[in-house]
Amino acid sequence: MKLLEGKTAVITGAARGIGAAIARKYASEGANIAVTDLVVNEAAEALIKELEGYGVKAKAYASDASNFQQTDEIVKEIMNDFGQIDVLVNNAGITKDTLLMRMTEEQWDAVITVNLKSVFNFTKAVQTVMLKQRSGSIVNMSSVVGVSGNAGQSNYSASKAGMIGFTKSVAKEIGSRGIRCNAIAPGYIETDMTAKLPEDVRKTWIQQIPLRRGGKPEDVANTAVFLASDLSSYVTGQVIHVCGGMNT
Ligand code: NAD
Repeated sequence: MKLLEGKTAVITGAARGIGAAIARKYASEGANIAVTDLVVNEAAEALIKELEGYGVKAKAYASDASNFQQTDEIVKEIMNDFGQIDVLVNNAGITKDTLLMRMTEEQWDAVITVNLKSVFNFTKAVQTVMLKQRSGSIVNMSSVVGVSGNAGQSNYSASKAGMIGFTKSVAKEIGSRGIRCNAIAPGYIETDMTAKLPEDVRKTWIQQIPLRRGGKPEDVANTAVFLASDLSSYVTGQVIHVCGGMNT
């Protein structure tokens, strides 16, 4: 029996990077997958084909996770297509890094809205489904910098710290209904998001990592499988760091 057999997972911002890696692992463990991202591009379509190769149902939806109304409509559409939602991974995220002295209101608002408001939007819409089912697992993609802070990332760190407060509060609110809510705090993971960092910044990051390497999206995806599955049935309100020991 596969770990996620018979479950349906919604993963936001999953056309590439960590979200796509989670979609692949979940599908390989038997879950049906609803992928959401800003647009359904060629990469998203290719991912859906790959997921179907695992013998599961998969579909991509164009949706701006930071838009409340759109999120509500997409979750209804996903319910029409799949009939259930057992796992929600709030993964969509962006960076607009700069020192506070140079940060514009637009850069602050964009990061807080995409990274944090999106989590409110999707969790609120999906919890209605999970409350009826009296079961579910919510996985929020935070970051080590939401715990440690990072110069040049005050907007991003604030959004990721906000996700941790949200995770712990929601875990307390709906734990009695059989719904768990946890966060993952990845460290330096090699994706398009980190590929835009200058080489010297990359080297400095790697030097701070006890395991002396950047993480792979699959490293995060393995933890996301644990949190979605019954292996973690007594784990809620927690933040699991997947960072090669960076934050210890
Ligand atoms: P990525 O940039 O490769 O992928 C992010 C995805 O989110 C993209 O497909 C993008 O189109 C989508 N997205 C952006 N805005 C969206 C919106 N408004 N609505 C829907 N989708 C949207 O990034 P990644 O490295 O795969 O990061 C995934 C998550 O992990 C993010 O929340 C990020 O903050 C977090 N994270 C990443 C790292 C890292 O080192 N890469 C570390 C810690 C946390």
